[in-house]
Amino acid sequence: MESLKLKSKLLYLLLTVGFSLLAVGLIGYFNIRAVNNHIETLYNGSLLPLNELHAIDETYYHELSLTVYRWNNHLIDDEQAAQNITQGLDHVAQMWKNYIAYEKRSDEMAYVSYSESQINAMERYFLSVRDFILSSDRSHPLSLETLSENIDAIHDTIYRLIIYENASAAYEHSIVKTQYKNTLMQLCVLLLAIVILVMGLAWKIFIRIEWQQRQLLTSTETLQHLNLKLEQASYTDSLTSIYNRRYFNLLYDREYKRSIRSGRAFVFMMLDIDYFKQYNDTYGHIQGDQALQAVAKVLKSTLQRPGDWGFRLGGEEFGIILTDTECDSSRQMGEKIRAAIEGLKIEHKGSKVAPILTVSIGAICIIPLPNMGDEALIHAADTNLYAAKERGRNRVVFTTSINA
Ligand code: GH3
Ligand code: MG
Ligand code: MG
Repeated sequence: MESLKLKSKLLYLLLTVGFSLLAVGLIGYFNIRAVNNHIETLYNGSLLPLNELHAIDETYYHELSLTVYRWNNHLIDDEQAAQNITQGLDHVAQMWKNYIAYEKRSDEMAYVSYSESQINAMERYFLSVRDFILSSDRSHPLSLETLSENIDAIHDTIYRLIIYENASAAYEHSIVKTQYKNTLMQLCVLLLAIVILVMGLAWKIFIRIEWQQRQLLTSTETLQHLNLKLEQASYTDSLTSIYNRRYFNLLYDREYKRSIRSGRAFVFMMLDIDYFKQYNDTYGHIQGDQALQAVAKVLKSTLQRPGDWGFRLGGEEFGIILTDTECDSSRQMGEKIRAAIEGLKIEHKGSKVAPILTVSIGAICIIPLPNMGDEALIHAADTNLYAAKERGRNRVVFTTSINA
């Protein structure tokens, strides 16, 4: 369930990043397109038209007016002059057509139209001049003054148009600059917002994962603790709180094999309370249980070394395993346990051996060999216990070989 939530959060994160990037892309695209349009207008609207406007101005000045002056001074004939005027007017018309074709802002159009009317007027004027040149009527002379005035007027008009184009270029330039700055600003703000959003979401997910990991760790620790408790419970005798037969089986096998490998002495003792049936009969079952607990307590307090273990094997029978020891010292250990239980001085009127609770112990100490078989050792301890009972109880029968 939690991982599902995490997955959907991750999906949201990816979708957010995806859409944000798309938005950045679109904004960038439209802005850059707009900038491009302005650049186009700036370039086409100033540089190229200026060439054309200069060309028109030049044509009026040099080609057309010069032709008229030269004709007036008889430097060229009528035909030539008429032809030059036709060519000049064609050139002006062509240049103007080119100029008009470039993109114009609407507010520019008023002045462009005015200039066009002026150019048309100039065309009509030069056509009348051409007609005059070609006609044989010389009743009145050609007014060079009018020519000069017209040329100055058209030069003025075109010059104003050039100034206008320059101003418009400057204006476009400032717009491009502003747009460029805006685009950059918008992109930066948007990217910053995306980064903050992504980082925020990532942080939330990170915290969530951390929290889940901590939960998992706590659950694992609790589980481990419970497992340990369960394991301990399954290996512990509920009455006496020492190890039970189940753990004895496990440990006996493990330690026996370890002794085979290490070549060190392995001691196994069987302990049985003397006349315990009579004890129960005399003092009752509950007190019998307390006696069992007292015996277990002696085992616990006596078997302190890491290689020593005490078990309740069942009923009033206990087992003892000693490893990392020598046979001499383990013989003393058996005697020590027996004496300690005797030392408790638990009253036992029903015992035929003493008025207090006593135990008999059958013990075996050997260095086990691989072909010996672990059952043989248990059997030997049992035999020794039987012998201890036979010889009068409250004693330890200890042997160091299986056949003894
Ligand atoms: P011996 O000296 O030959 O060992 O004689 P014994 O009476 O001790 O042996 P026996 O096997 O005849 O009797 C064992 C008694 O242990 C029988 C049973 O009442 C008692 N016993 C076994 N388990 C428990 C227990 O958990 N609590 C109590 N109170 N008594 C138990
Ligand atoms: Mg018994
Ligand atoms: Mg007994």
